[in-house]
Amino acid sequence: MRCLFRISIKHTFYAICTALAPLPPCRFGPYPTGMRAEVIAIGDELTTGQRLDTNSQWISQQLTHLGVEVAFHTTVGDELDDNIAVFQIAMERVDIIVVTGGLGPTADDLTRDALAAASGSPLQRDKTSLRHIQELFASRGREMPERNQVQADFPIGSTPIHNPHGTAPGIEMQIARSGPGTCKLFALPGVPAEMQEMWQATVAQRIHELRPEPRVIRHRRIKCFGMGESQLEAILPDLIRRDREPRVGITASDATITLRITAAGRDEQACWEAIEPTVDIIYQQLGNLIFGEEEEELQHVVVRLLKQQKLTLAVADWATEGLLLQWLQEASGDTGVLKSSPPISSPQLFDSMTTPFENHTAKATTALAEKVRQDNGAHVGLALGAYPPEIQSSSAQVCVALSLPDNKYKMHFSCAAHPAIIKSRTAKQALNALRLKLQ
Ligand code: AMP
Ligand code: MG
Repeated sequence: MRCLFRISIKHTFYAICTALAPLPPCRFGPYPTGMRAEVIAIGDELTTGQRLDTNSQWISQQLTHLGVEVAFHTTVGDELDDNIAVFQIAMERVDIIVVTGGLGPTADDLTRDALAAASGSPLQRDKTSLRHIQELFASRGREMPERNQVQADFPIGSTPIHNPHGTAPGIEMQIARSGPGTCKLFALPGVPAEMQEMWQATVAQRIHELRPEPRVIRHRRIKCFGMGESQLEAILPDLIRRDREPRVGITASDATITLRITAAGRDEQACWEAIEPTVDIIYQQLGNLIFGEEEEELQHVVVRLLKQQKLTLAVADWATEGLLLQWLQEASGDTGVLKSSPPISSPQLFDSMTTPFENHTAKATTALAEKVRQDNGAHVGLALGAYPPEIQSSSAQVCVALSLPDNKYKMHFSCAAHPAIIKSRTAKQALNALRLKLQ
């Protein structure tokens, strides 16, 4: 009773705070006709960084697939007041809330209490859910601890979501808000396997039914290499506008720039058709800077081009300590494209050199590209050398040399990247040089 009284005072307090707090406007996302969602992950293990919030990623992918725009991700610890505040804010600004965590039986599992307080609907025990929990314990030959009974408590007016393999049922509820319309909330257990099973069995269908009209959201990702992200944006100023449809976003990772085109439509076909003209503009403007799409990496493209042209490749790489060769081995599998030479990881060749890079490293790398090609009986030789040999040094000069049957090619560049990504960036430079030659 004291607990409920405490919750109801808190509820009033948070209702006032929420009414006064400036909230982002509802329903003004990039796809204005659709529903917007907030994904809330609950748990101290998440806010302290001990565990990665994989549930929010997975749920966001599912919601996007169903045509629901995810506008917010919120992570909150196991603190009742904070949970209530988070729910109060979310229910005013989105149409759908998906919560994971905090449905266990222990004192730090507070989702039920926080939902009761935030919605103003006290908890009531559900006999059917209680029986299911009791049966689950019995089927495992274990006595049910008293404490587990709370897992059968639900805010009045809500509906349990069946959890076939766990003791924590989910909660589905409609919440009235101060603004127009209502908000639909789904609370699921934190255990990823249980959460996903309940999503597939129940929640996905419920959300499907909630949509006022059929709607999906689809993305297409175009990948580029060879230019910085702001330079690239400068070539495409009109495409990156936030109010544009379809929307184009840019992300950079280890010097690979990804352009992500997103469209919403009544079905997949409508999305792909909406995306296509934007893709055409991007290909026209960026040309050879584009190397692939979706999951494709530079090494996959290089292997594909070599295969198409019936060419084999041998590699000598000591600048990236074997990373380049490892990527190529993974991408080529048993295609026979890679004539694997023992990786040359020893920088002995350069140990004795103190004279400038241009005089020795470039010459030696070029010679090595030819040697590795001939030694392995390959069509193409690729060598990657650096001086000083440890490319972590910020002043290292790198040389990529290619030896093709009818043509030699070399390219120098200086390493300028964070030490953590310098090897992968160097390997990508080498792969990109080869890609451009093969294309
Ligand atoms: P709970 O439902 O809060 O009792 O969480 C049960 C288990 O699920 C714990 O082992 C958590 O670490 C895990 N878990 C909870 N939330 C998440 C999340 N957002 N992502 C991944 N695992 C989670
Ligand atoms: Mg928890």
